[in-house]
Amino acid sequence: MVTQVVICYHCDSENVVKNGKAPNGKQKYLCHDCLRQSREDPGSNAYPPDRRQEILHAYQERSSLRGLARTFGVSRNTVTRWLKKSR
Ligand SMILES: [Zn+2]
Repeated sequence: MVTQVVICYHCDSENVVKNGKAPNGKQKYLCHDCLRQSREDPGSNAYPPDRRQEILHAYQERSSLRGLARTFGVSRNTVTRWLKKSR
């Protein structure tokens, strides 16, 4: 059995615990860092890791959050959060 690593999609923390089930049967999680709830399947709010890498790589080349936001349709807050975490 593989342990699934759950990452909070609000703050990217791994400090996440199971927190009951949603009405639709999906597992819910509670993040201890930002105290917000995540779903097992966050849908459009989450970026796959390879997409994130692509965006961060583009940022290293251009160093323009504004340009990134326009090119990738990702919010500047999201990219800033990723940058903080990767330090
Ligand atoms: Zn969080």
